[in-house]
Amino acid sequence: MKISYQYKIKPTKEQAGKIDKTLEMLRCQYNYLLAQRFEWYEMNRCPVDRCPLICHLPELKEQPNYYNQKASLVQLKIDRPWYKEIHSQVLQEVPKKVELAFDRWLKGDANGKKSGRPRFKGRGQYKTFTYSQFKRHHFVNNKITLSKVGDIKVTVHRPIPVGFDIKTVSVTKKADGYYVTLSLDDKTVPTIKPDFKADNIVGIDVGLIDFYVASDGSRVKAPKYLRKAERRLKSAQRRVSRRKKGSNRRKKAIQKLGKQHKKVADTRKDFHFKTAKLLLDKSDIVAVEKLNIKGLVKTRLAKSINDAGWSQFVTILSNKAENAGLKVIAVNPNGTSQECSNCGNKVKKPLSQRMHNCPVCHASLCRDLNAAINIKARGTHALKAQSMSS
Ligand SMILES: [Zn+2]
Repeated sequence: MKISYQYKIKPTKEQAGKIDKTLEMLRCQYNYLLAQRFEWYEMNRCPVDRCPLICHLPELKEQPNYYNQKASLVQLKIDRPWYKEIHSQVLQEVPKKVELAFDRWLKGDANGKKSGRPRFKGRGQYKTFTYSQFKRHHFVNNKITLSKVGDIKVTVHRPIPVGFDIKTVSVTKKADGYYVTLSLDDKTVPTIKPDFKADNIVGIDVGLIDFYVASDGSRVKAPKYLRKAERRLKSAQRRVSRRKKGSNRRKKAIQKLGKQHKKVADTRKDFHFKTAKLLLDKSDIVAVEKLNIKGLVKTRLAKSINDAGWSQFVTILSNKAENAGLKVIAVNPNGTSQECSNCGNKVKKPLSQRMHNCPVCHASLCRDLNAAINIKARGTHALKAQSMSS
């Protein structure tokens, strides 16, 4: 099982300087490797619909890829010796990042979704670097040893769970300071809660007004403090756009905006953790809709406002369930709000219609509750199919 823990670190001024310098050097190298790829790409393609009358023959150059770009780092350290101040694992991550950005642009990700043309990173936009192989004994008590940076104090607000090994460590610069993210792995077999009841299942639906509506009729609203923080974020955004570009006042407003972004993200995460705990205290299995990223824009436009938060919540919920020997089941989301949870009849309704009224069986209930009951039914069904096949 894989989880990740994030801790705030307190580098000395000198150490912070080293981290900043490392990030800046990595940024330059990232931009350089990206430019190398663009250059080759521009020289070796020809638009299908128009061909230039004058065409120069480009000299044949090897196409930059992850391996030859990684190999070029050896020469880099000779030409620019200050790059020796960066740990080799950290430096090797740069060509990988470039490859990823390029692949996502030209080939698309695992779901076939393509991203935009990769961008060069401006000052301060390269924010994180990773040690891909980390030794457990480099993190003891409240101190972490980062190669080429030093021993840094860590605020350990919760200990690393027993049985977990540290795989990688990332250092990130955020608006309010520096953080390390440890990716942890436990190879032991996941356990199942001893008194696990397969029929103790609840279905939940993302609500438009509520954060979720559960099949037992309970609802959870996004808390007031979160909505307040979100409102403050919006006003911080407006403040930035009102200020003149390049002005000091704008710079300050951007800094404030960064802090507010962080606050909202933290608050939301905290709310997600608490909500997940509440759900799993009551139920052994939680059924949710499978997130369909591709079809999101078309089918769930109105819901998509909540979706960024929702997918984080589902991830937290799944991890928490796995830790506790419980289960989260993702079901097919098609038509969960149209289907009648009582008789299965399809009742079409616009998003504005808040009630589900069935003309066949005369069931009448809130549309979100109707959907949640359908999700629970699909979860139960999927669970049965699973146990039959195993
Ligand atoms: Zn019905």
